[in-house]
Parts: sequence; C-alpha cells; structure tokens
Amino acid sequence: MRLFSFLACALALLPAALRAADPPPRTLVHAGTLIDGAAEQPRKEVTVVIEGDRVVEVVAGYRAPAAGEKLIDLKSATVLPGLMDMHTHLSSELSATSYSERFFMSVPDQTIRAQEYARRTLLAGFTTVRELGDTDGISVALRKGAAEGWMVGPRIFAAGKSIATTGGHADPTNGLAPRFRGDPGPLDGVINGVDDARKAVRQRYKEGSDVIKLTVTGGVLSLAANGQNPQFTDDELKAVVETARDYGLKVAVHAHGAEGMKRAIRAGVDSVEHGTYMDDEAMRLMKERGTWYVPTIIAGKWVAEKSNDPGYLPAIVRPKAAAVGPKIQDTFSRAYKFGVKIAFGTDSGVSPHGQNAREFQYMVEAGMPPMAAIQAATRNAAQLLGQEKDLGTVEKGKFADLVAVPGDPLADITVLQRVSFVMKAGKVFKQP
Ligand SMILES: [Zn+2]
Repeated sequence: MRLFSFLACALALLPAALRAADPPPRTLVHAGTLIDGAAEQPRKEVTVVIEGDRVVEVVAGYRAPAAGEKLIDLKSATVLPGLMDMHTHLSSELSATSYSERFFMSVPDQTIRAQEYARRTLLAGFTTVRELGDTDGISVALRKGAAEGWMVGPRIFAAGKSIATTGGHADPTNGLAPRFRGDPGPLDGVINGVDDARKAVRQRYKEGSDVIKLTVTGGVLSLAANGQNPQFTDDELKAVVETARDYGLKVAVHAHGAEGMKRAIRAGVDSVEHGTYMDDEAMRLMKERGTWYVPTIIAGKWVAEKSNDPGYLPAIVRPKAAAVGPKIQDTFSRAYKFGVKIAFGTDSGVSPHGQNAREFQYMVEAGMPPMAAIQAATRNAAQLLGQEKDLGTVEKGKFADLVAVPGDPLADITVLQRVSFVMKAGKVFKQP
C-alpha cells in the first residue's frame, strides 16, 4: 500500500507533457503478399500496423489510414521480415590487395569504408547481421553508429576479435616476417590454455562483444598451411564456453575439419560456421544438442572461383580455397536432409558486401524449399541470436523490420536479390 502511494506521488510529480505524451506516429503498410517468417503459407492482402519502431497489429485486408496515419503501398509486392545474416565481416572485403591493407590503411580509414559495406548490406534487405570477427573493434563501433543513426547500416550483433590459438586461423600475425610476429596473447584474441581462454572471453566482454567467435579448425584464407586441423583442446573449449555463459554470451565456431567441429559441439557451442567436412557423427551430435549450422555456401563458391584467378589469392591459400570451396554446398544439402537446424549466413566480406541474398539461391539449388530458406534468414536467425522476442517475424510486438521484393520469392528465390523496400525499426531506408 505504501509502495502504491509512493508511486502515485511520483506519477503526480511527472511533467504533464510526459504523462500525456502523444502516441508515436503510426504507419500502415499494405502488403499484397505477406510472408511473416512464422506461418508456413503466405497471406494475401494484409495491413501491417506500425507504431514508432514496433509492429502493433497485423490485420487481414487493406485497412484505410485514419487521420495522422501514414500509408505505404506495397500491394504489388511481397513483404517479408527484415532479412538476417548470421555471418558477416563488415570491416573488410576480400580483394587482390586485402592482405596488405592492414599495413597501409589506418583503423579510421577502414571504419569509414566499412560504413559503405554496412549501407550496402542494409539496402540489400539485411536489417540484422551477426558480425563474426573484425580487427580493432570496428564492428562494435559500427553497431553503435547504426543504432545511433550516425550511419546507415543494419542492426549488428558483434563478436569483435575472433579467438584463435597460436598459429591458428585468426592469429593476426600468421604469415608475417618474424620481426613483425611478436607473441600475441588473449588481448589480441590468441590463447593457449584455459587461463588464456577465460581471459580472452572476458576481454571480449569488456570490449562490448555480443557473441564469442572461435576459430576451432584451420581456415581457408589465413596464411597457414592447414585448412582443417583441430586448433583448440577440449579443456580450452570448455573454458571458453563456461566463461561465455557467465557473461550471457553465445559462442559461434568457424570449423572446416570434423574433429575440431565435434570437440566444439561436445563443449556446447551454439553454432558451427561453414562446417565443410561435417560427417554423420557431427550431424548427429548437432541434432542431439540443438547446435545451429550456418553454412556460408557463397563464401565457398567465391573463394573456389578466385583460386583460379592467378595473383588474387596468396600461394598458400589457393590450394585450400580450391579444395574447401566447392564442398560446402554438398555439406549443406546433407545437413538439411539430416535435420540439422540451419540459420542463414554468408561470410560476406569474403564475397562482396550487398550480395548476401545470393546465398538463398544456393540453398534452394541444394534442395531446401524456398520457404525454409526464408525462415532460416528470419525466424531461425532470431532464435540463434536469442532475440526471438524482438526479431525474426512480422508479428505484434516485434521490431518493425520489413523488406519487400517485386515478385514471389517462393516461385523465384532470386527475387530476394532485388529488394525494393527496406524498413528498420519503423524507419524507411529504401522505397520503390
Ligand atoms: Zn567468417
């Protein structure tokens, strides 16, 4: 009772303007077809009602706007939830000169360039991305820039610096002349042993990471010989996962080889990225434990193509790119049929930013129905992020993240590469 009267007094003291604040502006979207990310069937002729940054109602038929309500006419389009890419690297983009950039580009230069990559990504319909590895905290800065409206970009969940072991994929000194190598440690994302593992996770937390990224096997683009070997021990993985859980952080692992992948799955990580040499045992473990698979087929295809281009990739990288690249689509096909949970991801930054939606085409080519591919990039991605209360579907209470395409993606999945309308948190960034 006393608490109640205290609250009543506090309310009475609020300025009148705050108590009787005008409701946020309302927008009605008339969707010719709505794929809401949850239902298995699209709906025809729907009105999505948006107030401020949230969807407040989804109603059948085209409701006429009341006084003060804005109308967006997408009657000739298919409206979907904002697309979500669970594996990007906005801080860079692979090119014939990208390996030497860190010596010739400052961090501010790279960050300003990254804003352009972020803009392209959002305008391609990707309203949310998970940034899985950068240098110098660029993606954490982009997250803030996009959220504050200092730049045009998607909503970002950032890993910051990936965590590797000495000489492993994401050791930032691989391939350098000895005088430049030094001995990077947990602050630089390189660990050896469980104490380092804990420190590296805590350091990422301190830097503002939303998720922990580990490189648990060799990788294609690192300046190292092996693209598949396991690079973390069981006790290091256990220390990473336990510490990440203490801070409420999920763990995503880059993995090509089966052994490193299985160690990580057993340690309880949340997602396996790439998964190239995933065997039946790995798939069975993932199903048992509910581990997500983020395939990144487009990255495999892109590096395989570039391995034929003399001078584009360093000599130590080319044979790995030629071997790993073409396999991912087949692995994806087997994992889908096996029933492994799949969330959409591209590794963009390997392939050019803004072409993320080409991944849908590769997923459908490999046997996934178009609706399932769309759900992988909406509802499933939100679940992987642990953000299903706010993101992933067009439903009452969620963020008003909407995109539209001029056609039927269930009949022609490539139409997702021609996004004509983008709204993020109720704000329109692209209009037909
Ligand atoms: Zn990656």
